[in-house]
Amino acid sequence: MLTDADRKTLLDWYRRMRRDLPWRRTGDPYRIWISEIMLQQTRVDQVLPYYQRFMARFPDVTSLARADLDEVLRLWEGLGYYSRARNMHKAARQIVDRHAGRFPDTHEEAIALPGIGPYTAAAILSIAFGQPWPVVDGNVIRVISRLFGIGEDVRLGSVQKTIARHAAELLDRENPADFNQAMMELGATVCTPAAPSCSSCPLQERCHAFRHNATDQYPYKSPARKRPHHHIAIGVVRDTSGRLLIARRPDHAMLGGLWEFPGGKQEKGEALRDTVRRELGEELGVDVDVAPKPFRVVRHAYSHFTITLHAFHATLKDGSPHPEAQNGEPLRWVASDELTEYAFPKANRLITETLMEQGS
Ligand code: SF4
Repeated sequence: MLTDADRKTLLDWYRRMRRDLPWRRTGDPYRIWISEIMLQQTRVDQVLPYYQRFMARFPDVTSLARADLDEVLRLWEGLGYYSRARNMHKAARQIVDRHAGRFPDTHEEAIALPGIGPYTAAAILSIAFGQPWPVVDGNVIRVISRLFGIGEDVRLGSVQKTIARHAAELLDRENPADFNQAMMELGATVCTPAAPSCSSCPLQERCHAFRHNATDQYPYKSPARKRPHHHIAIGVVRDTSGRLLIARRPDHAMLGGLWEFPGGKQEKGEALRDTVRRELGEELGVDVDVAPKPFRVVRHAYSHFTITLHAFHATLKDGSPHPEAQNGEPLRWVASDELTEYAFPKANRLITETLMEQGS
């Protein structure tokens, strides 16, 4: 348990040592909201250029609400977890339509917005509105598990509840904005996953893990299962003027709303060229000739699986692709120098770069 003096020590440390970040120079709930969404599962240094570009283009909720989703996704490309961008865009429209363009200041209304769960709502309400909601992100979980010596698997719901209870008890209710940020900053800069800098930690005297020389034992996570690996074969199909066929992924799917070259997962015992032929037949209702070998092979890791993407040149033999065959999702024929105007998932983007280098 922290005393009031410990809380003050932590707050003093934060006010002296905090990093100067653009979303800390504002009290605007819109800007704080966007930063919180971008920072989910993503490092600060990775977020910074995206945040600056995003704010330059969408300085307020109205500009975001008016934008096309394609443009939002294009600005988001490379940041991953694209449902964040889709939900943010939907939420911006709801804020304009239902809340007169102002981010709601109640927990109930905030968590009713797409993409805003209890953590994000607590962060925005405490930081932007000074409300006493405790924040529990990955950094706070690590700090609390070490402070209190919580040795059970932090992925378990029951353990997360215990941690949330500790966070609520620790919170400085007079200074929730700075206190929550102090806990997150401590986890990000001092109480780091490997080799925490305990000698410069303001909570050292209170810390169970430090006293027992056991910082490497917390937080405990049961060993992760091995991620499955898939081989994906895609066809880069051209029309007679050399334009390339791209398809939009359905909104509800992983990487929804992004564009890609048509193709799919290799089935057991299937040659990769046959995968391209089968997938394009099923998805687009066309028959294609596929080059004997892929012109580019890319490996990519997602959070729950890894892929090897094999890109083949292909030409139409029979039929013409139509969106109905793609469950109504749009298809486009685009020149290779127009590929930069569309948002692609990382592995597909590497294929577009090869195509643009080849000028094909
Ligand atoms: Fe983390 Fe070390 Fe501080 Fe404990 S003393 S909270 S392990 S940095």
